[in-house]
Amino acid sequence: MLKLHGNALDANIVVGSHQLLTVTRSSALGSSKKRRHAYLLDGIDVDIGYGCYLDFGGTHKASSHTEGYLNLPMEMGYLAEGDIISVEPSGHVNVVFRVNSPHNTILLTERCNHYCLMCSQPPKDVDDSWLMGEAMELLDLIPKETGNIGFSGGEPTLYGAQFIELISKAKKSLPNTAIDVLSNGRRFSDLEFTQSYAAINHPDCLLGIPIYSDDPVRHDYIVQSSGAFDETVRGILNLKKYNQKVEIRIVIHKQSIERLVQTCEFIARNLLFVDHVALMGLEMMGFTRANLDSLWVDPIEYKDVLSEAVAVLNAYGIRTSVYNHQLCLVNPDVLPNYVKSISDWKNEFVDECKSCQRKSECGGFFSSSKIHRYSDNISPFIS
Ligand code: SF4
Repeated sequence: MLKLHGNALDANIVVGSHQLLTVTRSSALGSSKKRRHAYLLDGIDVDIGYGCYLDFGGTHKASSHTEGYLNLPMEMGYLAEGDIISVEPSGHVNVVFRVNSPHNTILLTERCNHYCLMCSQPPKDVDDSWLMGEAMELLDLIPKETGNIGFSGGEPTLYGAQFIELISKAKKSLPNTAIDVLSNGRRFSDLEFTQSYAAINHPDCLLGIPIYSDDPVRHDYIVQSSGAFDETVRGILNLKKYNQKVEIRIVIHKQSIERLVQTCEFIARNLLFVDHVALMGLEMMGFTRANLDSLWVDPIEYKDVLSEAVAVLNAYGIRTSVYNHQLCLVNPDVLPNYVKSISDWKNEFVDECKSCQRKSECGGFFSSSKIHRYSDNISPFIS
């Protein structure tokens, strides 16, 4: 797994508060630009005036007297020209944007009004509104040619009007960048809020909203919040009334698999106009690990149900994708909908895959699955 954050092994930092800096090797920047850049050290002679100076594993220790010197773990040595980092006064560094990655997701908050059994980012009741400030600032730094970025939480719409401002700013700052937002959709049950969102008229913003069951009681149980199903469905209806893009996301586990086919039938009959449905495998993070006994089911056990669910959605002409699954654990009839979806920084393969001849077509595993739990039925394709 790629290391996206880390503490400096030693540092000579003088910043008073955290700052966003663009990584560069260029020594030809003007003084005002230099302050907003982190310089990748490649020798002992450094030009002064940069926001900070990045070293990895102390290779350029001779520069450690330099104000702003930051010696990061070697595993972060992948940082490249154009990446964006957030540097805290303590010397903690978060990589918030990687220029060469198609999987840049910006965390907006850890607060949430759900408490999902399988939440990969367990909610925290903290004031983390600085994350919204950082996201606003980041939009000015991300290159204009970026194809796609994601916003996630927590629940981003808890910000209310500030969330609307963020999407508005994304449209202005990055007019050619597609946006994916992960939301539980409940805030959009408020028609006025939906109208404000629709009024932005973003050309390519997709809201990924979960419906875990056609049975409201079961959905509310999975998200641990009563009334969630009704508000989420009303939110989706409001969004489509204003022609906004919606993706329905269903995470497959022991609590959702029993009614997966009925849930897809419910979507086909009542929400036929959604733009995409994603049928997703479990990520072994956060609450999933704590609730593993009540969630884990080997994908090989549900592969026929998955085929049936995909067939229902395909039959109704709904664009459908199967995410986060291993190729050897799905039936061949699912392949037209199969997507290698796991973000590059947390995508790995296991030892059993070494001899597999179709590894390049396979989506592989979450790093967390490799560590905590994956199927006992991985079987390499060998001709
Ligand atoms: S053996 Fe590994 S690489 Fe091959 S299909 Fe299965 S999970 Fe994928």
